[in-house]
Amino acid sequence: MDFQLNEQQRIIKDSVRKFLAKEIAPLVGEHETQRKLIDKSIVKKLEPYGFASGLVPEEQGGLGLDFVSYCLMVEELSRVWASLRTMVTSSALAVRLLSRVGSRHQREKFLPHLMSMDQLACFALTEPNVGSDTRSIEAKAERDGDHYVINGTKTLITGGSLADLVLVYAKVKESGEDKGITAFLVHKDESAFEARDIRKMGMHASPLSELSFVDCRVPAANRLGAEGEGQRIALSGLNAGRVNVTFAVVGLGQAALEASIRYAQEREQFGKPIAGFQLVQDMIVQMALKVDTARLLGFRAAALIDQGRQCRREASFAKLYATEAMVEVCNQAIQVHGGYGYTEEFPVERYFRDVRHLTLAEGTTEIQKLLLGREILGASAFV
Ligand SMILES: Cc1cc2nc3c(=O)[nH]c(=O)nc-3n(C[C@H](O)[C@H](O)[C@H](O)COP(=O)(O)OP(=O)(O)OC[C@H]3O[C@@H](n4cnc5c(N)ncnc54)[C@H](O)[C@@H]3O)c2cc1C
Repeated sequence: MDFQLNEQQRIIKDSVRKFLAKEIAPLVGEHETQRKLIDKSIVKKLEPYGFASGLVPEEQGGLGLDFVSYCLMVEELSRVWASLRTMVTSSALAVRLLSRVGSRHQREKFLPHLMSMDQLACFALTEPNVGSDTRSIEAKAERDGDHYVINGTKTLITGGSLADLVLVYAKVKESGEDKGITAFLVHKDESAFEARDIRKMGMHASPLSELSFVDCRVPAANRLGAEGEGQRIALSGLNAGRVNVTFAVVGLGQAALEASIRYAQEREQFGKPIAGFQLVQDMIVQMALKVDTARLLGFRAAALIDQGRQCRREASFAKLYATEAMVEVCNQAIQVHGGYGYTEEFPVERYFRDVRHLTLAEGTTEIQKLLLGREILGASAFV
């Protein structure tokens, strides 16, 4: 057992951190306070580091990084800008599925634009009436010659209005018969759909969108996998998605911790830095412990993915613990900052707003508990 990063992983972490500090950090404040959406020129800056191509094998034109390295990059990006992280990793999730499941034709058609970060993808599963219970999706796709016609609405879609390619899940119906949930690659240059952004609590620089598909014609060649394989395809990316989310929240927790340490050392009350007060030390130590524990749980699951081993339990443990604990860490960071913590003069109020959504997305805390309950007890609480 080795708890050290290897040399390549250390180099990746350090170079990404330096690049983000220089090129990306100066853009954050203005975008977030003015709710200015990130444009594609900013996303494009990340290309050389492999934020889109990192997990694609070299033979498909990607960098073929190990999963631990990719997670290190996600943590660093989230530490600096959660809005950019969420758009980039949502796109990368679709890229990873396309790379693993897509036909050669689909890969050649879509992957180069996505890996170069000239285009973005998003992952569209959730619907107005369907969240945790993904089997019940209502969007429909009907075959019409060499096209499918999709009708339905997807909501809470990260980066939806900016995305060029939408990975849409819909139920295929043929002569009234249900052929099951099926995945489609819907490109905005080929198929018409509407996007509307939804205002939200945090991550003000990234859009969260509702996408409406009304008689949306999609070439049959853009079906990802076979009819009825959509659920399996969506689930196949779940463990990696959960570990990804773990490192996304760890990045925010780490940023909140660093800001709190700095503040505690500088802020003086009762004639000395507040860092010297035992109750403040307790807050900081608890925060550091939670960040470290979450990161270790994340590394264990990421290492299992790299070894090609099963990690359902480990990925859910990491996601469940890290998201809940990092909400506490970011909340505690506000406490360390006192009244200033509640203002936009310091970044910790943003960390708190930004971290909050990850106990919801990629399987809520409650769903993780049910999955773990089934794993540990062998009895399913799902209907
Ligand atoms: C910022 C953000 C980004 C998102 N990005 C995407 C995206 O890119 N693509 C996408 O497809 N979706 C996305 N989502 C949607 C997200 O995946 C869903 O919000 C999530 O799956 C939960 O679904 P829901 O919101 O409909 O809640 P519901 O499923 O309606 O749940 C409501 C509450 O009931 C609880 N609950 C539900 N079922 C059970 C049960 N069986 N037992 C106990 N408790 C239960 C839940 O835990 C929750 O507390 C995003 C959400 C957010 C907030």
